[in-house]
Amino acid sequence: MGETLSIEKIFGSKVFTPEKMKERLPKEVYDEIIRVNNEGGELSVESADVIANAMKDWAIENGATHYTHWFQPLTGITAEKHDSFLAHPNPDGTTILKFSAKELIKGEPDASSFPSGGLRSTFEARGYTVWDTTSPAFIKESGAGAILCIPTAFCSYTGEALDKKTPLLRSLEAINAQALRIVRLFGNTEAKKVQVSVGAEQEYFLIDRDQYLQREDLIFTGRTLFGAPAPKGQEMDDHYFGVIRERVGEFMKELNVELWKLGVTAKTQHNEVAPAQHELAPIYEEANTATDHNQIVMETMKRVALKHNMTCLLHEKPFAGVNGSGKHNNWSLVTDNGVNLLDPGDTPNENIQFLLVIACIIKAVDEHADLLRQSASVVGNDLRLGAQEAPPAIMSIFLGEQLDDVVRQLIETGVASHSIEGGTLQTGVSTLIDIEIDGTDRNRTSPFAFTGNKFEFRSVGSSDSIGSPNTILNAIVAESFCDAADRLEKAPNFDDEVHDIIKEYLEKHKRILFSGDGYSDEWIREAERRGLPNLKTMVDAVDTLTTDKAVHLFEKFGIFTRSELESREEILYDSYSKTINIEALTMIDMVSRKYIPAIIKYSKQLADTINSIESAGADAPVQIALLKDVQDGLGRINIMLENLRNVEKRASMIKNPKQRAFYYKDHVVTAMSELRRPVDELEVICDSDIWPVPTYGEMLFEV
Ligand code: ADP
Ligand code: MG
Repeated sequence: MGETLSIEKIFGSKVFTPEKMKERLPKEVYDEIIRVNNEGGELSVESADVIANAMKDWAIENGATHYTHWFQPLTGITAEKHDSFLAHPNPDGTTILKFSAKELIKGEPDASSFPSGGLRSTFEARGYTVWDTTSPAFIKESGAGAILCIPTAFCSYTGEALDKKTPLLRSLEAINAQALRIVRLFGNTEAKKVQVSVGAEQEYFLIDRDQYLQREDLIFTGRTLFGAPAPKGQEMDDHYFGVIRERVGEFMKELNVELWKLGVTAKTQHNEVAPAQHELAPIYEEANTATDHNQIVMETMKRVALKHNMTCLLHEKPFAGVNGSGKHNNWSLVTDNGVNLLDPGDTPNENIQFLLVIACIIKAVDEHADLLRQSASVVGNDLRLGAQEAPPAIMSIFLGEQLDDVVRQLIETGVASHSIEGGTLQTGVSTLIDIEIDGTDRNRTSPFAFTGNKFEFRSVGSSDSIGSPNTILNAIVAESFCDAADRLEKAPNFDDEVHDIIKEYLEKHKRILFSGDGYSDEWIREAERRGLPNLKTMVDAVDTLTTDKAVHLFEKFGIFTRSELESREEILYDSYSKTINIEALTMIDMVSRKYIPAIIKYSKQLADTINSIESAGADAPVQIALLKDVQDGLGRINIMLENLRNVEKRASMIKNPKQRAFYYKDHVVTAMSELRRPVDELEVICDSDIWPVPTYGEMLFEV
């Protein structure tokens, strides 16, 4: 047995927590930073200097040599540039280690190499990273040593957001302000803040590193671009929650320890549906920290996998034919005095508030289904959404049987007088008491499901930041809270007005509610009849960001300016084109330099065999037939390869980002699947010894 693990000792040991600040900071400074974090406002430079120094001392005690402003540019991953604590040496050659307020608060990375979508031309390269005091600094240990990481927001010289964090923070302020109005209207005078709680369940694949290194497609694109299905897939349902293999178990153990050190509340781990697929779920926490922590989870998974000679694949669809990976984003709203607004309460008052909140969310999702879908867009997710394994690209809400029934009663009669569980609701007027949502009542096909005291947004891709999905959710719900509060604050009779609003919202937006099978074709037709958007791909969803309704929403709550939205559109189109372009070039390379030579070699082996059998006076009909099939396949591969080369060339010449992205989607993606088909067909008839890359069977079952 190895050493015993003490979670208590490990947890947060590499985080500059409030507890450590309390120990190390003068009381006034500690009080100031806590107050700023809870109530907003700005920290004085003097205090920042004291904090910087304490942070540096703590980091150095923990072996750190460098610090970095850790930020989340629009590439979807995190960025860092390390600076050592070394200051200009003394004349006598001794060194000083320094870290000042200036270095803590603001950084100036050369921003010209990050996507900015035209917000900043390369000659105005300046961008700023600004310390986010609400997310704690931490020490990351990697090959580069121990680095003090300071979570920061990243914006341009003129203040436009160039990252995922800035709009998220803006959206959290917006929903806080609007949700506070709602709870005040219901008599909560104590709450100072409404926070968003988020728990992101992370799915991932683990494969052997040696096999990974033999496949350019995995190396360059994170997914297999070729590969015939293995004889066994996920049909036996024997992997989900199955016994965790030894090697994977060791990985999970180390992953947990590394995450706990960084203050990530890793809680649940299990095998997922597909072979070699797994999941990790943390305990939910405040949305901004949860978003940073999810980035840490993804980074740490990759790093720890390497130590076990495995590679962690976070792509949404690394293998065709078995399930892909997503990220369930669990979302709820809670006041600082502990009331979860998505929890049906014990009193009629709380119940009415709960119903109003649900009605507002239904309205928000219906009015902005397009934006919500866009927020879960990433190139890899196109292969997953709507593929009978993940929610469809059509947004809808699943409430569960009991809440559905309450909603139905409210729409039909204006009164919910009873609940399916058999209990009688307490008063006549639209109140309900003690709803206990049955934990087993689930609908895995729904993209947005109510699960007891939270909504679970399941469309998010496994590799994606949860920054955008939460920004959009916060923004759209803030808007409908605002609309409701505007009416309620003016209403002569509060009770009547709440009742009317709930009924009106439910009636008007009930088309977004759906409890049936989201994977079925009937739902696609039904959704169309209901007028719900079905934005099938990432590029189809991009311009939802700049519709009048979207710009109005984002500008009203100060979350994005129009130019920020336009720049994001350009970046999305561009990143789509670039990603598909890399995939296409990788296919061309693999076919030309790996598959075709291997197939030619195999043809020659067959031809040699046929010649020697025939010169010995016998017939070789099986070999001849096989040779013919192989030659046919090779011919088809060659045609499809030429075709892909041509469309790829044409695509890369298109100047307009939107047109280029659509061309990639409509022509290059099609040419890619046409090239894949004959290669996969040949894989199953060729000698396995000559096949140049590891197969699905080897990668998925030999971890
Ligand atoms: P399920 O089985 O419904 O997926 P779990 O209880 O295992 O639910 O939770 C899944 C994720 O949801 C976890 O990350 C968990 O911490 C998170 N979660 C639970 N309650 C809430 C809540 N009120 N708000 C946000 N996230 C939550
Ligand atoms: Mg879940």
